[in-house]
Amino acid sequence: MTKSVLISGGAGFIGSHLVDRLLRRSDLDRLLVVDNFWTGLRRNLSHIDDPRLRIVECDVERFRSDDRFDEILHMASPASPPWYMREPVRTIKANVGGALNLLDKLAPGGRISFASTSEVYGDPLISPQPESYRGAVDCTGPRSSYDESKRCTESLLFECHRTQGIDVRIVRLFNVYGPRTRPDDGRAVSNFLSQALTTGRLTVYGDGTQSRSWGYVDDIVDALERYFWLDPVDYCGPLNIGNDREIAVIDIARYIAQLIPGVEIDICPPIPQDPTNRRPDLALCRRILPGWEARIGYEQGIARTLDWFRAQVEHGADTHAPGPVRL
Ligand code: UDP
Repeated sequence: MTKSVLISGGAGFIGSHLVDRLLRRSDLDRLLVVDNFWTGLRRNLSHIDDPRLRIVECDVERFRSDDRFDEILHMASPASPPWYMREPVRTIKANVGGALNLLDKLAPGGRISFASTSEVYGDPLISPQPESYRGAVDCTGPRSSYDESKRCTESLLFECHRTQGIDVRIVRLFNVYGPRTRPDDGRAVSNFLSQALTTGRLTVYGDGTQSRSWGYVDDIVDALERYFWLDPVDYCGPLNIGNDREIAVIDIARYIAQLIPGVEIDICPPIPQDPTNRRPDLALCRRILPGWEARIGYEQGIARTLDWFRAQVEHGADTHAPGPVRL
C-alpha cells in the first residue's frame, strides 16, 4: 500500500535530512512539507526534484487541509535557545498547537512521530539520563517555552495513544549538529564553526565545563528512519537518540580553534539556567534498534560540518555568525 506522508518543519535542519530519506521510499505516494521558514531554509530542499514532493509555506498550527495522511512527522520547532527564547509563545504554538492540529489530519490507523528533546531532562541530577528519568525542569524558567512545550506535546501524544489507540513514536534527541544547520542558528557547534570562518572569535558561555553529547546528523537520521518507519517496532516511546560520548563545551571550542589558524576563544558571561551536563542512556535505543550506533565521533563530524560551512561561504550563502547572546 502506498503512503501519503506529511512532515512539519521539513525545510529545517533535521527535517530536511528526513525528507531526503523519505523520498528514498518506494512505498511513498506523496510527501507534503509544511514549513513557515522561521528557522527552516528553502535552500535545504532546493536540491530535490521529485514530483511526489510538495511544499506549503504555513505555520503548522494554522495548516488547513481536507486531506488525511497515513504518516505525520512533527518536526517543526526552533531548537536553538536564542531562537526560542526570542519568541517563546510562537515556540509553544509550533509544538503544542502544531501537534493538536496535525492530529486532526491523521488518517484512521495512521502514525504520528514527534521530535522531542533531551531538554525534557532539564539540568539533570543523574547521568546518563534514561527515558525513565523525570527531569529537573523549571516551568517558569527562560528555557521553559521549549522544554515544557516538548513535554506537553509528549503528554498530548501519549494520552492520544492511551485513550484512542493512536500509533505514536516519540524520540528525545540530544544536541544534533551537522550540515544544513543555519549559520546564525546559535547552537554551539554551528556557532563555533561559523564564527571560526568569519569573525575568528568563538563565544564560550561560562567557564565551558558544562557538557553535552553531540550527535552527528547522519547517525541520528539513521536511527530516526528506522524507528519512524523502517523497523517493525512495537514501542511508542519515548526513545533517547544521540551519541553518548559526553564532551565539555570548552573542549569542542578548543578543538575547532586549533583547526583554523588565528581563531581565539572569548569567555562570555554564563547563560541563565544553562544545563551543566547531558548524556543519553542508550540501553533502550540499542534494544529497540539492534545494531544501531552513533558511529561518527565529533572529530569526524566537525570536519564534515566544517567542509559544508566552508562551501557555504564559498558559494556566497548568508553565513553571518552571531556574536554573544544578550538575554
Ligand atoms: N554554547 C557556547 N557558545 C555558543 C553556543 C553555545 O558556549 O556560542 C554553550 C551553551 O551555553 C551550552 C552548550 O554550548 O552550554 C550547548 O548549547 P546549545 O545551544 O548548542 O544547546 P543546548 O543548550 O540547547 O543544549
